[in-house]
Amino acid sequence: MYKEYEPLNLDNLPNRLSEINEIADRVGADPKTWIVNEVGDGNLNLVFIIKGPVGTIIVKQALPYVRLVGDSWPLTLDRAFFEYNALLRQDQRDPGIAPEVYYFDKEQGLIAMEYLAEHKILRQKLIAGEKVRGLASTIGKHCAKLAFKGSDLHMLTQDKKNDVALFQKNNELMAITENLVFTDPYFEAEMNQNTKGLEGIIKLLRDDVELKSKVQHMLKKFTSNAETMCHGDLHSGSIMCTPDKTRVIDPEFAFCGPMGFDLGMLIANYLMAFFSQPAHRSSSSDTETYQEWILNIIENTTKSFVDEFILLWKTERKGILYPESVFENQGHSSLAAMNDLLQEIWVDAVTVCGIEMHRRCLSLAHNADFEEINDLALKAKLEARNLIMGRELILKAHSLNGVEYILEMARDFNRKELI
Ligand code: ADP
Ligand code: MG
Repeated sequence: MYKEYEPLNLDNLPNRLSEINEIADRVGADPKTWIVNEVGDGNLNLVFIIKGPVGTIIVKQALPYVRLVGDSWPLTLDRAFFEYNALLRQDQRDPGIAPEVYYFDKEQGLIAMEYLAEHKILRQKLIAGEKVRGLASTIGKHCAKLAFKGSDLHMLTQDKKNDVALFQKNNELMAITENLVFTDPYFEAEMNQNTKGLEGIIKLLRDDVELKSKVQHMLKKFTSNAETMCHGDLHSGSIMCTPDKTRVIDPEFAFCGPMGFDLGMLIANYLMAFFSQPAHRSSSSDTETYQEWILNIIENTTKSFVDEFILLWKTERKGILYPESVFENQGHSSLAAMNDLLQEIWVDAVTVCGIEMHRRCLSLAHNADFEEINDLALKAKLEARNLIMGRELILKAHSLNGVEYILEMARDFNRKELI
């Protein structure tokens, strides 16, 4: 392997990587027997599938710029270091959820990892109308485990503080979220894009000072409340599934932030899948059936999150926060305090959810659920429902005391003609 950073390509990859034992052992010693394909459909990195006589692996390498935009937007190679560190923590906190890491090279921004055979990106499955058994419970529990076990509720506080120090250095990727997610949708930012016909709705959002203030309040929490390590980019493009197995990939945006962040971003992406369905299904009964399945996933993901959080509260509360010495050991229940905390997590999740629904239609990096709609009038109509519901979620986050309200709101907006 070269000392200096050099991007892999189909020509140089076999010779370079076959020199690495951890990789050759998994694929096969002779690089001439390797079949290499570039699969990076993502926005940022190179991703290769390497198949050989022994097995198949994934190699992901960071580029020194944002792939989606090109070399005019430089970006640190260190993101591979944060992804590697996050993958290890995901595996520790929820064994088996993330691809196993075989090899990491910081200089080259390179991670060799388990190939998730037969798994498909969840976003593509949602567009195709495919169901996944166990999806809600796997991801709901995963979000709770990451939230709880990465926080001062569970960790030794010196370990937690070391994690905060480590992930604070992922500030270039945090800055992308701070700008593209929290800020750009709410003013005329240079890289913004939107479907024609949404101008009136965009003006309504940008004229809403209460809305913008609530978004900024959430940005303050994103950037300053280092409660736990979050995945940081947990949308349906970071989840891979078979009909009955679910895995999570791509935690390069990992950061220490609010415990509800991942759950909120994920629900937003389910809601966008929900609103886009009329463009992807041919019959209205198929549309409705599948839309109800998505709402069911949102409901059960949230319930699994809460159930798992309560279980962890009862069995794994070993950190400095809400210690048993202050509650149970004096004969006092800590459950009211836990419910207050869960309520705060929920408000954050609902707020992040609304913001994510905005940014995916207004700033850079839109999602395929809407982007694959060719009929632009229909696309604008469906995006309008998504945008206005996002606004309601942000404004009413404090009064939506349960996931049922969100499901009902989605059904209501799905019937509305807003443009
Ligand atoms: P980026 O960070 O550039 O968005 P991703 O980590 O999302 O890159 O990977 C891009 C694509 O590569 C994924 O959408 C998926 O199709 C494929 N991929 C990534 N990791 C794996 C894996 N471990 N197993 C199988 N496919 C993978
Ligand atoms: Mg990525």
